[in-house]
Amino acid sequence: MSLELPTLSFFKANRINYYYDKPFLYFACFLCGGEVKMNVFDTKWECSICKKSGTLSHLIVMNKHLSSQVRQKIYHPENERKQIIRMFDKLIHKYGSDIEPLKVKVERLIQYYQEKKNTDE
Ligand SMILES: [Zn+2]
Repeated sequence: MSLELPTLSFFKANRINYYYDKPFLYFACFLCGGEVKMNVFDTKWECSICKKSGTLSHLIVMNKHLSSQVRQKIYHPENERKQIIRMFDKLIHKYGSDIEPLKVKVERLIQYYQEKKNTDE
């Protein structure tokens, strides 16, 4: 049985910043702020920096002992990409189409890394 629903409920109920790219949920490590990748089907997770690992039940325990003040936001690459494109559009609107080639180059570079990442997985 998938633990997707209880996992998402835990994150929402505790207002923990995350993003979900099925079947993986990403959030900032409770201990070091590094990126944690969790598989929602078995809830196994590991921090990419401090290598702390566990399951949803470990997070529930850790959450009780940690202040929500110390929690960091997860870096969400897709949101960052959208923000960058919006920033370019504002600049183009303000300064004209000289900036357009830079926007195209950045989009092309992001696309390159996305495709590379997808073939590496
Ligand atoms: Zn960590």
